[in-house]
Parts: sequence; C-alpha cells; structure tokens
Amino acid sequence: MTNDVWLLARAWSTPSGFVRGARFVFRTIGGLATGKRLVGLGGALSCSLMWIVRDQQTPVWLSSPIVDLVVEDGAVVGAVVDKEGRQVRVRARRGVVLAAGGFARNKEWRMKHHGVPGYSAAPEGDLGTAIGIGAGVGAALELMDDAWWGAGTVGPDGSHGFILSERSMPFSIVVDAAGDRFTNESASYIDFGHAMLGHTVPGPTWLITDVRHTRRYLSTSYLGRKKQWLAAGILVEAPTLNELAERIDADPARLAATVDRFNGFAQTGVDADFGRGRTVYDNYYGDPRVKPNPNLGPLERGPFRALRLYPGDLGTKGGLLTDADARVLREDGSAIPGLYAAGNTTASVMGRTYPGPGSTIGPAVVFGYRAARHAAKR
Ligand SMILES: Cc1cc2nc3c(=O)[nH]c(=O)nc-3n(C[C@H](O)[C@H](O)[C@H](O)COP(=O)(O)OP(=O)(O)OC[C@H]3O[C@@H](n4cnc5c(N)ncnc54)[C@H](O)[C@@H]3O)c2cc1C
Repeated sequence: MTNDVWLLARAWSTPSGFVRGARFVFRTIGGLATGKRLVGLGGALSCSLMWIVRDQQTPVWLSSPIVDLVVEDGAVVGAVVDKEGRQVRVRARRGVVLAAGGFARNKEWRMKHHGVPGYSAAPEGDLGTAIGIGAGVGAALELMDDAWWGAGTVGPDGSHGFILSERSMPFSIVVDAAGDRFTNESASYIDFGHAMLGHTVPGPTWLITDVRHTRRYLSTSYLGRKKQWLAAGILVEAPTLNELAERIDADPARLAATVDRFNGFAQTGVDADFGRGRTVYDNYYGDPRVKPNPNLGPLERGPFRALRLYPGDLGTKGGLLTDADARVLREDGSAIPGLYAAGNTTASVMGRTYPGPGSTIGPAVVFGYRAARHAAKR
C-alpha cells in the first residue's frame, strides 16, 4: 500500500498512476468478493506482528493501560496496570518496555511544550501517560518541544487531517494571509511544518490550486465532503484568482504578483525563491509529465481553490531519553535498570530532522527489538 501512494496521487495524470489505481481498486474488490479483510499501511504491519505473537501463544491483555511502574532498590521490576477496573501488579523478571506512543493529543502538554494546541493526526489516546510514568521514576526527557510537524487540515467537525502529496504536486502554491509564498511547498513534511511555525505573518495559511490540480491529483482531505468544507469556509472556490483572493481576505494585487512570479518559475523550471522541485525528495510527489520541473505548474486556469492549512503533525518527537539498547537514561546518563522504551514514548533518534519515510516506525521496530534482546540477557 505504501508503494501505491505516490502513484495513486497521480492516478488521473499518468498511465503508471492509472494502472496502479486500477490494480488497487481490483485488489480491494477481489478482497471483498472472496471475503478477505485486506489491511494496508500500519494495520498490515501490526497484523504481521500480532500473527507472530499469536503463533508464540504470548498472552495479550487489551484495554489494560499501564498506570505505574514497580521499583525496588532503584530497578524497575514490574508494572501496575488497570485491568477491568482493578489495579494489577505484573512482575517483570527481565524488564519493562514502555511503548505507549507520544503526547500529541495531550492539550495541556502541547501548550506547555509547543505553544500551540496541536492539530494532530495521531490517535486520541496519545496522551503521554508512559512518558509521564517514565519521568516519574527519574528518566531524562528530550526534544519535548518538537513534533513530526506538517501541514494539517481541520474539518468542520473538528477532525484533523494531514496534507502530503497535495501541496507538492504542480499547479499549486502555499501562501500566507498576505498572499505571499514563504517556503518550498514540496519540502518534507517536517521542514514544511517548521517553516509554517516559524513564519510570523499572522492569519491563515492557504493551499491555492489551479483546476488541473483538482482534476488530476488525488486529494483525500475533503474527499466526499466538499460541500461541508465549502460551507465552513475551510475550502474556498472562485472562478478567478482575483475573486479567490477577496474571498480569503488576501490582497488581490499581492496574490496576483505572487502567482505571476511563480508562473515564471514554472516556465523556466527553477524556483528562484525557495528551490521547489530541486531534490529527488521533492520530485517523488511530482508529476513527471509536467515539464521542465515536475513540481512546478503554473496557476492559470480556474476555478481556483484555496484550502486552509493548519500546523498539523503525525505525532510528537519528544519523550524518554534512551541509549542504543533502548535502556531509559537518567539526567546523569546512567541507565535505569529494568526500564526500556521504544517508539514515540522516546525522544526520536532522528533528532529534529526527517531523513525519509519510515523515520518513526523504523526506529520503533529496531529499538523494540534491541530492548528485547538486551532484556533477555539480564
Ligand atoms: C496518518 C499517519 C501517517 C503516518 N505515516 C507514517 C509512515 O508512513 N511511516 C512512519 O514511519 N510513520 C508514520 N506515521 C507515524 C507512526 O504511525 C507513529 O510514529 C507510530 O505509530 C508510533 O508508534 P508507537 O508504537 O510509538 O505508538 P502508537 O502506534 O501510537 O502505539 C501506542 C500504543 O500504546 C497504547 N497506549 C496508550 N496509552 C497506553 C497506556 N497508558 N498503557 C498501555 N498502552 C497504552 C495505544 O493504545 C497504542 O496501541 C504516521 C502517523 C499518522 C498519524
């Protein structure tokens, strides 16, 4: 499924995208027809891991959140979990691995560490409980002020979404409330998110698209909900750029100047302001049929659309500081015996950057494995 996404984004604009889209549709229909429940993306990974757990007959307690750790002589020797309303102490001879996500949905912590409430696409239960419990037994915390930022959407019902390929594809730009571009729209989501947060012009940020963007590329944020989004003013449509600017309260002359300049870049293939479309990463979510630069397409044909963007994220980066064996460390660098952590409960091994896809799940799997190997030797 992950390998489908980049081609699906251009299912209507390239033959390879169309073939991939058709394969995806037939695979889904085939699954339904044969009674198979197909899963993709993270669900596929979780299912594969759960298969191994079942195969090994490892007992699994669902809906049994950790509420505390059991510490004896400075070492973690177990955990207290809430099981069906009862607090149960579970003894752990080798160690406890905390892997209960980050704190993307903890509004109080978000305000304290990020200064914004956060419009996260992470699950609602991402409340930082395990980070708090780890800190309670002396763990050091790192990167608490950072997240897997990116451009997000907030629907009329308050639901949060995440924008990826839409802002990178040609025939689009992102502007601030004044009507100016301020960054490379095709940059990685982290870089784009950092640029959004660092941009000081007050007011909303908009993704402006030409009708070719609307027709050719997959846009999932308001799929099947266009009417409601238009009614809420989160999505705005107009036959001309002038009218669009008026409807989003931007200066029409300034937006026209921004678009003129950008259209010039689309012609030469070089974005002289922000270097959009210069790297292989940028081109990944581009349209190879658009020349000379797959990320730069002019905004000329209406109706034009403006989609309001928010500083969204896929989760938080901050958490418990760990070493190469996923052991949880104290401020003085010493390891807390018997305590391990992996995934978004830990401070990301990637620091503040985004080296590429899999930057969260990859390390979560690797350090979960390393924790188990280390604990098994204790
Ligand atoms: C839309 C979206 C797309 C993404 N795409 C990618 C991608 O392509 N590649 C990539 O690498 N990453 C991606 N990510 C990020 C990735 O999904 C997360 O970083 C990753 O799932 C974090 O794993 P985790 O195990 O740390 O936390 P989670 O997957 O959040 O799992 C934490 C688990 O702990 C449970 N839990 C919570 N509190 C407690 C408690 N007190 N006690 C016990 N259990 C508890 C939760 O119910 C949950 O089951 C994406 C995220 C989103 C939202």
